[in-house]
Amino acid sequence: SFGDTDAQREVRQNDRDYVFHSWSAQAQINPLPVAKGEGVRFWDYDGKEYLDFSSQLVNLNLGHQHPGLVKAIQDQAGRMATIQPAMANDVRGELAKRVVEHSFEGARSVFFTNGGADANEYAVRMARHHTGRQKVLARYRSYHGSTATAITLTGEPRRWANGTPDAGVVHFFGPYPYRSEFYAETPEQETERALQHLEHTIQLEGPNTIAAIILESVTGTNGILVPTPGYLEGVRELCDRHGIVMICDEVMAGFGRTGEWFAFQAFGVTPDLVTFAKGVNSGYVPLGGVVISEAIHNTFADRSFPGGLTYSGHPLGAAAGVATFDIFEEEQILERVRDLGERVVEPRLRELAEKHPSIGEVRGKGLFWALELVLDRETRDPLVPFNAAGEAAAPFNAVVAACKNAGLWPFAAGNRLQIAPPLIISEEDLVTGLDIIDEALSVADGYYTG
Ligand code: PLP
Repeated sequence: SFGDTDAQREVRQNDRDYVFHSWSAQAQINPLPVAKGEGVRFWDYDGKEYLDFSSQLVNLNLGHQHPGLVKAIQDQAGRMATIQPAMANDVRGELAKRVVEHSFEGARSVFFTNGGADANEYAVRMARHHTGRQKVLARYRSYHGSTATAITLTGEPRRWANGTPDAGVVHFFGPYPYRSEFYAETPEQETERALQHLEHTIQLEGPNTIAAIILESVTGTNGILVPTPGYLEGVRELCDRHGIVMICDEVMAGFGRTGEWFAFQAFGVTPDLVTFAKGVNSGYVPLGGVVISEAIHNTFADRSFPGGLTYSGHPLGAAAGVATFDIFEEEQILERVRDLGERVVEPRLRELAEKHPSIGEVRGKGLFWALELVLDRETRDPLVPFNAAGEAAAPFNAVVAACKNAGLWPFAAGNRLQIAPPLIISEEDLVTGLDIIDEALSVADGYYTG
């Protein structure tokens, strides 16, 4: 409990003595001991409160300790805590049904995984067996997970030290109007040229060698990049023309984050495979999956699918997933996200951009936004260099520290303050958090050289 310094010391000590942390130099980190979480907030052992604008790792869509999720897991644990995947289970089937019904026309079934990375692994494996081809095209500025194929698909520095364990992956650029690779001056030009670049990539790699194109429907950690008008439709058309499987990675953008069940639904496209995790049950129990089209499902109708996981469709995770669908309906989550995004977040961020010269661009959708921080609006030089660490990252770290000191935990990435609070957040809490960001941006303005 709060103020229990012995408990805090023990938590910290065990962590430092025995826990090996992700993406970190073990001797250089000092993880925050967290004592409690409730709704959109969490607390350390000193009782310091944080408003979570990062939803942990953008998974906690329904907030901490949602009573409906907690009860669903407790009830399921009392009924049947686990059962292996070769048997049929009521909540597993119910969740698969709901996911299929809410995904895309022609969706047929769901293969459940333990999380997002393995969902992408299995989607690629299915696409390869379905097409009999090996290559997969993935985008730069993407994150697809940390297992062998998923880290190779990833198009950012986290891949570098891991090499390319999957030799079949080729990267290409997607649309990013603010830092266009294509010298585009309008979103329409960006779409046209990005599609031309993709078409040329397909041509030169050999269309009949390419099993799949995978992309985040709305890019998450690498910048909240909303596709330009017509882009996803154009990717769909290229996939159709060349018999390539289109995989939408909805691990971060799915389950309400953009105001849709799945982000691609706002763009009028029908993928062949959709991967999900995180928001499916807010991460209360590890669970992910692949939604599979009729055609790909049928490939494995009379041919065995070569893959599986002991915990595929784990009942505790599935029960929390079914409860998520109920809660989304009861609490009108999608409607709230659209309303808060359009009425509260976007206007306020646009206002902040008028006030703070360090904001180069505001972009996003629903409760998924980025403020791209720059040193100079003319040159668009980022507040800190790409992949900055140590001293070079100090200006951005100072902005993040200002947020945390004021009780806001931001979704910080590169030179961007990103905003992704739990979808249950009240308007009042949203405004409180945006006020803290407003204050912290004066720190970024202090570095402005333009
Ligand atoms: N795909 C996207 C878009 C993600 O954001 C993430 C995680 O952040 C993953 C895949 C990997 O998911 P997991 O960490 O559950 O393996």
